[in-house]
Amino acid sequence: MTEELEQRWCKKCFKKTRQEIIFMPEIPTYKRRRQYKCTECGLTSWLQGRRPSAESVY
Ligand SMILES: [Zn+2]
Repeated sequence: MTEELEQRWCKKCFKKTRQEIIFMPEIPTYKRRRQYKCTECGLTSWLQGRRPSAESVY
């Protein structure tokens, strides 16, 4: 299994934070939206998953 925490931008913290994936679609492709929850402020947001190769772009 993969790690359930991802470094994502949080609009509330205004920085990249570790975010827990609290909803994963049944067929997890990068185009589908996942629900993330910021581990620092608790803000939940729907974000698209990203391709692993796109990591370095950010
Ligand atoms: Zn946050």
